[in-house]
Amino acid sequence: MGRYFGTSGIREVVNEKLTPELALRVGKVLGTYLGGGRVVVGKDTRTSGEMLKSALISGLLSTGVEVIDIGLAPTPLTGFAIRLYGADAGVTITASHNPPEYNGIKVWQPNGMAYTPGMETELESIIDSGNFRKSPWNEIGKLRRADPREEYIKKAVGMVHLDGSYTVVLDTGNGAGSTLSPYFQRELGNKVISLNSHPSGFFVRELEPNAKSLSALARTVRAMKADVGIAHDGDADRIGVVDDEGNFVEYEGMLSLIAGYTLRKFGKGKIVTTVDAGFALDDYIRPLGGEVVRTRVGDVAVADELAKHGGVFGGEPSGTWIIPQWNLTPDGIFAGALVLEMIDRLGPLSELAREVPRYITLRAKIPCPNEKKARAMEIIAGEALKAFDYERLIDIDGVRIENDEWWILFRPSGTEPIMRITLEAHTEERAKELMGKAEKLVRAAIGRA
Ligand code: MG
Repeated sequence: MGRYFGTSGIREVVNEKLTPELALRVGKVLGTYLGGGRVVVGKDTRTSGEMLKSALISGLLSTGVEVIDIGLAPTPLTGFAIRLYGADAGVTITASHNPPEYNGIKVWQPNGMAYTPGMETELESIIDSGNFRKSPWNEIGKLRRADPREEYIKKAVGMVHLDGSYTVVLDTGNGAGSTLSPYFQRELGNKVISLNSHPSGFFVRELEPNAKSLSALARTVRAMKADVGIAHDGDADRIGVVDDEGNFVEYEGMLSLIAGYTLRKFGKGKIVTTVDAGFALDDYIRPLGGEVVRTRVGDVAVADELAKHGGVFGGEPSGTWIIPQWNLTPDGIFAGALVLEMIDRLGPLSELAREVPRYITLRAKIPCPNEKKARAMEIIAGEALKAFDYERLIDIDGVRIENDEWWILFRPSGTEPIMRITLEAHTEERAKELMGKAEKLVRAAIGRA
């Protein structure tokens, strides 16, 4: 991780670390890196969005880049607009699911996937050099405003077909999804009830979709006897789902269901997920002709694997789904259409959710100073793992050991001074026993690091 870019672009408190000056510099840097061309810029609903966007656009224009400002736009719409307008990059001003005082800058490639850590490192070296491209007066970039929503809806509607019409409660969390998701669901032929759709930058609920933050959505689904509840985070690259009985469908279960559905819809093949995803996915999709490939944590790693080696679907157990037949940008809005199509073909979501195998997942966080993380991981990966009777080891991101009965993932947090342990087993006793052992091992490793 570099000085400016973290695990998911720049994400900082506004006017403290993320100032208009930094946004201006990022604009100049990106224009310098691209050496001209065209860039699409969108922002979410945060109160600081317009300020940061204007600064970033100024920087881009000064390097001779043509800017297409699509205004208030969820991340997936920016990803879509890059290809629509033949742009060389896209930028989203968003802090995703973080609190309202945060904002961020995330950069996208022409194929819709996010900039890789390697590309971000190149941008950082230009920031540090201060060596920016400067256009003469007659070559300063032009600014154009555009609204790609109609094209998005038209194309997306053409990829999904519903025989029936459903009642959908949509909680967009006062985020950028408010400007697209409800209209899209209506165009699919559904009856839409919108919650938290006022795009004010003041968030009524916590932006991360989970059982707690979506309690109002769950109550509304029950009260309205709706078929499904759909929620997004602030930039709508993620989806959270409530079933027709008003229960939040756990992420692991939803990931399995939708991966299985894409195999039915698009044909057999690879399903890409991350090292922190559980066994339910493997067990659920195997009979459907799917094969699971695991990558590092994060949507960039999933998109990268899909871009390089192909696959039917990519998803993280955080509700971040990539449908490569559509785009390599994670898209919670298009994901919503697939959920509806799955219900249309296979039946009520509450019944489908009961078909997914359920295992016991336990998570623990153990304090670990950042400077000790690397050494502690070495100790864990080395001798300490002898303590477990495992069959396979995956070390692409942290260390995951597994056999057919359980798996344990040891992984240092990218943003906090903690070491994470995630594990899964078939029974609660076994899970607790493994966690006891794993925690002891990690504490001892940190102590010796
Ligand atoms: Mg997000």
